[in-house]
Amino acid sequence: MSRPVILAGERSAEPPDEIAAIVLAASASATSADLTEIFVSVQGEGVVAGQVHLFLRFAGCDLRCSYCDTPGSLGLDQVDRGVRIGGGLLRGQPRREPNPVTQERLLQLVDEAVEPLGHRPMVALTGGEPLLRTPYLVELLPALRARGHEILLETAGTRVENLERVVSWIDLVSMDLKLPSVSGEADLLGAHRAFLEVARNADRRIQVKVVIDPRLDLAELERGVRLVAEQDSTLPFILQPEFRSLRTTDEAHRDLIREAVSVARARLTDVRVLPQLHKYLGML
Ligand code: SF4
Repeated sequence: MSRPVILAGERSAEPPDEIAAIVLAASASATSADLTEIFVSVQGEGVVAGQVHLFLRFAGCDLRCSYCDTPGSLGLDQVDRGVRIGGGLLRGQPRREPNPVTQERLLQLVDEAVEPLGHRPMVALTGGEPLLRTPYLVELLPALRARGHEILLETAGTRVENLERVVSWIDLVSMDLKLPSVSGEADLLGAHRAFLEVARNADRRIQVKVVIDPRLDLAELERGVRLVAEQDSTLPFILQPEFRSLRTTDEAHRDLIREAVSVARARLTDVRVLPQLHKYLGML
């Protein structure tokens, strides 16, 4: 069957709802899923930065954030190249296996990848948007938990019903707060609010990440901060300077961070500024 093509890193001519419909139609299988990467590496983001994680990067996303650093995961055309296994902390040259990957095969690959570590690291579900693979995750996550893995979900925080189906298996929900001035996407605050409510009602550990760069609209950030504070003013709130715009000697950049922290600290108690550690380490 030929695959619908959404070009990597490009904004599709299709309206967002049609992109979502195309991606979702390709994501309905409970028995197999398309991935772009499986690797072990140092977690570079958020409150668990510095820990060794096993990353499962699922293909496909219904957003097109301007700062996306995984454009290879966005287009379903990338899927035909197969899933790349290796890199990061794994020894040897990366190899590829064809997509889609069955549940049974993925669990074998997980076991192989973590065997040299001698322990079961947290599994980071990332993408793309992993929640587009919800039927697959409903089967996979209990098996991962039974093996002793904790589960981290890295998500754009818009697919509320999908989260409801898997939230009981998630140990840490890492929700991106997408600000239109930086992401180039539509205002998603309504979806973010409902998403946080589901995670909170399930009593999950939560962190909220927001990518900032010189385009940041502080009024937008303030609305996002208010939304998070309405849920829980103690949630970890991660300001993540966009890597390519980082200029530590640039006064304007320091002003940006200072002002963003000020806005966030006005309502939240756990505000952190964390660039992506793995990029400093030169790792995936
Ligand atoms: S939600 Fe994540 S994977 Fe999707 S386009 Fe935005 S940054 Fe990229």
